[in-house]
Parts: sequence; structure tokens; C-alpha cells
Amino acid sequence: MLLEERLLIEQIDIFLELQEIDNTIDILVNKTKNMPLKMNRINKEILEMKKQLNIKNENYKSLQVKMKRVELDLREKVNKIEKHQGDLFGGKVSDIKELKQLQKAIAKYKEEKDTIEDNLLVIMEESENSQNILSDFKKELQEKEEIFKKNKTEVNSKIKDLDQEIISLKDRRKNIIQKINDHRFLKQYEMLRKDKGGNVILLVNISICPGCYLDLPSDVVYHLKKDKSMVICPNCSRILIWRE
Ligand SMILES: [Zn+2]
Repeated sequence: MLLEERLLIEQIDIFLELQEIDNTIDILVNKTKNMPLKMNRINKEILEMKKQLNIKNENYKSLQVKMKRVELDLREKVNKIEKHQGDLFGGKVSDIKELKQLQKAIAKYKEEKDTIEDNLLVIMEESENSQNILSDFKKELQEKEEIFKKNKTEVNSKIKDLDQEIISLKDRRKNIIQKINDHRFLKQYEMLRKDKGGNVILLVNISICPGCYLDLPSDVVYHLKKDKSMVICPNCSRILIWRE
């Protein structure tokens, strides 16, 4: 249970400092990894919005086409009405039956014209709504793109700063490692860290391992307290140090 090679008390502090630096490096590396993820998310949202913009654009365009068609229909009816009215009042037709037929046709075209006009009003309203939605959406997209651009610049500069910070921490790490004289223990520490992540050297002042939260056997607690050296947790293999 006890480490084969006991470490000097000062070595413990060196390892704790090393762990502190490693933790900070991990946090910073994670930050540099997560920052572009956030940007990717915004970028995805923008791409999705562009797709939607296309759909809204198509919708607006098809309403315009529909409106043009209905307007042509209306023009055609108006023309027909005008032509028939011209015939009716032009004095060319004198036969009563023919006159009545003309009047009937005019009435029918007027009815159709009214229906087309109603229809046109509905389409015009739809088109206006569609145009409003489109311009609001374009504005929203533009704002999002501006946010993205601004964020990207910020994120890039933050990542640059973080990279710089990581480099200087790694320099500090190198210096600290030079002070370590137990390389076997260093290897053990590094392997544990790779395996578990986070803190693998833990300070204990109760008989529970702060790594796995399980009760420590009384002989482990005894050694921890008595020898003031590092002891391996028999459950999670983390390195424990007693500190009152
Ligand atoms: Zn444990």
C-alpha cells in the first residue's frame, strides 16, 4: 500500500504545484477547444437561416408571379367588359335578343371581375406580409452574421492569448519537473492523470478518499497520518496525502 519509495515532504509540494499547473493547462486547453465549437454552432444557425431565407424568398417570388397572373386575368375581364359595353352602347347592335345576351355577358364578366379583385386583394395582402417577413428575416440574419464576425475576431484573439498562456505554463512545468528527483513517481502521476483526469494527488483529512468517496481502510489512514507520505487509495489508485 505504501509507495515503495517514500518522497520527501518538499517533493510532495512540488508534485502539488505540478498538479496545479497541469489542471490549469487542462482548463485552458479545454477552453481553446470549446470556443470554436460555440462559433460552429452560430455558423450552423446562420446556414440554417440562409436556407430558410431561400424558402421565404421563393415564397415571396411565387406570390409575385401569382399576383401578375391574377392581374392579367383581371385586365382580360376588364377588356372584355369594355369591348361588350362598346358593342352595347355603340349602336351597332339593335336586336333585342342580342342586346340582352350582351348585357348578360357583361354581368357575368363583372361578377367574375369582382371575384378576381377579391382574390387579388388577398394575394396582395399575402405578398405584403411575405415581404415584411422577408425583410425582418434578412435583418435578423444580418445581425447574426455581424455577431458571428465580431465573435470570431474576439474568439481568435482569446485563443491566441490562451495559447500564449499555455506555452508559459508548459515552461513552468518543465522547470518544476527538473526539481523532481523521483521519476518513477512522476511517471505514475502522469499515467494516473491520463487515466483519471483531474486531481490524482489529493489532500485528505478524514478517512474518506476525496477521489472515489469510499472509506479508507484503517491501516491506510494510519500510514497516512503516521508517515506523512503519499499513500495509494486501494480503491481508485489516486495518491493521498494527509493534511490536517
Ligand atoms: Zn479513492
